[in-house]
Amino acid sequence: MTTDSEHMRSDTIKGRSIRPRSRRPKQYASNRVCAQDECDTLISRYNSKEFCHSHAPKRYPRVRGRIMESAEA
Ligand SMILES: [Zn+2]
Repeated sequence: MTTDSEHMRSDTIKGRSIRPRSRRPKQYASNRVCAQDECDTLISRYNSKEFCHSHAPKRYPRVRGRIMESAEA
C-alpha cells in the first residue's frame, strides 16, 4: 500500500512548511529627501543615511557643543 506512506510524506512536508519571510533585501522608506532643510535631494532607499551626499555629516569627533566653527574668526 502506497497510500499510507504517501499520506505520511505529505504530512511531513506540511509540518515543515517554510515560509519565505524576507523576500526583499533591506530597504528604507522610499521618497525620502535629504534631512537638511531646503534640500530636496532624493535619498536612495538603499541608503541608510538621512542626508544627501553633499550634506552628509562629516566625521567629527564626538565633542559635545564644541564644534570648531569659529576657527576662521
Ligand atoms: Zn542635502
